[in-house]
Amino acid sequence: MRDEHRELRELLGAFALGHLDPPERDRVRAHLDGCASCRAELAELVPLGRRLSAVDPDALDETPTPPPGLGEAVLARIAAEERRVVPLRRRTAVRHRVALGAAVAGVAAAGAVVGWVARPVPDPVPLEPVAVQAVASDVEARADLVPHTWGVEVRLTGTGFDAGEVYRVAVTADDGREVPAGEFLGVGPQPMRCNLNSSVLRADAVAFEVVDAEGDVVARSEF
Ligand SMILES: [Zn+2]
Repeated sequence: MRDEHRELRELLGAFALGHLDPPERDRVRAHLDGCASCRAELAELVPLGRRLSAVDPDALDETPTPPPGLGEAVLARIAAEERRVVPLRRRTAVRHRVALGAAVAGVAAAGAVVGWVARPVPDPVPLEPVAVQAVASDVEARADLVPHTWGVEVRLTGTGFDAGEVYRVAVTADDGREVPAGEFLGVGPQPMRCNLNSSVLRADAVAFEVVDAEGDVVARSEF
């Protein structure tokens, strides 16, 4: 009887919709005569079955959207719940309010994170540190190379380039060409950082030089 009850109870939905074949239908009917619990369940299912059979499947949206205002309704319910909780013992009320606040903040944060993840994130720049030998006594410098599709970028950091003096940077290619990568003004003892761009591809670049206004090399790096 109990096994039959469990098995037939799962068929009640199909029974209410008239989807059972005649032998199954007869078994359910026979069981319903002796089982008040299943009769009660069926009484709840029948109106639902009637409403379902009245639905025109062609009239349904393929992607159901939540009704407008659902978000506000949920927040209003949370706020109402919060007001209802406040008159309880104070510590409990505070704890509930903190939990509700955290829940609401969590929902907001989840929204923010989704927005953040959806934005395209640029690839981190692959930096290749290279040593720089200072030829001029007060120059201290180091550099990172950044390979690009259009050539190599030299990110030069240093101090001791004479304030106001123009320095030129050239990248040396493996075939011996010296290709200009740009120029910068020295700022003396202040830390200086500048980005210099050369059309020599990283794979073809073997060195760069920093040359002062007189044409003397003040710093050099060989990769
Ligand atoms: Zn039953």
